[in-house]
Amino acid sequence: MSRPLLLDSVAALKSWHMDGGTVGLVPTMGALHGGHLSLTELAAEQADRVIVSVFVNPTQFGPNEDFDRYPRSLEADLDALSGYPVDAVFVPSVAQMYPDFPRPAAVTINAGGIAKTLDGAKRPGHFDGVCQVVAKLFNLVQPDVAVFGQKDAQQLAVIRQMVRDLNFPVRIVAAPIVRESDGLALSSRNVYLTGPQRGAAPVLHQALLAGVEAARTADGEAAGLAAVTSAMKKMESEPLVAPEYAAVVRSDDFTLCALAGPGGVEHFLPITGQATLLVAAQLGDTRLIDNYQWRAN
Ligand code: AMP
Repeated sequence: MSRPLLLDSVAALKSWHMDGGTVGLVPTMGALHGGHLSLTELAAEQADRVIVSVFVNPTQFGPNEDFDRYPRSLEADLDALSGYPVDAVFVPSVAQMYPDFPRPAAVTINAGGIAKTLDGAKRPGHFDGVCQVVAKLFNLVQPDVAVFGQKDAQQLAVIRQMVRDLNFPVRIVAAPIVRESDGLALSSRNVYLTGPQRGAAPVLHQALLAGVEAARTADGEAAGLAAVTSAMKKMESEPLVAPEYAAVVRSDDFTLCALAGPGGVEHFLPITGQATLLVAAQLGDTRLIDNYQWRAN
């Protein structure tokens, strides 16, 4: 298959859009891997035409985060997409997306309550920046459907909330997490890991499995605590991994049920229905996140 059409400006995007048919958008920051590619297949099942955006969005990175060193590999990305059902790739410049950059835009989005916990607590402003760029991409691309990975469960919940609250006419579709054979969730940041860290990294997935198993064997009220405690213990067993948190939320609205983290272990609500166990950990300079959904009781 040939490479998808490269649209490197808003003007090029506008003329592509004139062609008609329903549009499925897959927003990414590039450095594409099998997780991203699976999203394109799901998008193709949902829409006539698929467009992937590749944009390393500066407004979702904190001042001491990895914006500058974030992997950028457009040529390899275009080659990777050749084998997939993708019609176009939108690759705007920072200047096109944010004409006043580095001055912040005057009108921005407050990502709300879901964005204040877990990754949002660790990365203040991160989800505001995600909402800002996704809102802009929705306005520019005007997709009928947008596909996001369950890998970033909190991001998915924030986007769903934004779409509801601001009435974006876009259907949000969640794609399952794609993993390496040893359980490590694919991530563009995995390239940062040293050999030994890469060897240790599957402990996040093992922690999720241990946590869910503990929840399943605990009594109702205690299930959340059992899950986060077991997941933390599993991560702590790996010397190269510095666990940040383990948390259980209700999958539908991201309500926090139990949390183990820097502040100790806290219990908020019993787990009911579909639940998500989330973990975050630092491996050297690299922060990894992962999660697992299951049906409680
Ligand atoms: P990113 O380029 O990291 O911003 O990710 C772009 C999209 O790909 C997001 O919706 C992610 O949730 C999704 N994604 C990243 N890694 C995976 C994975 N391992 N499995 C499924 N989707 C993923």
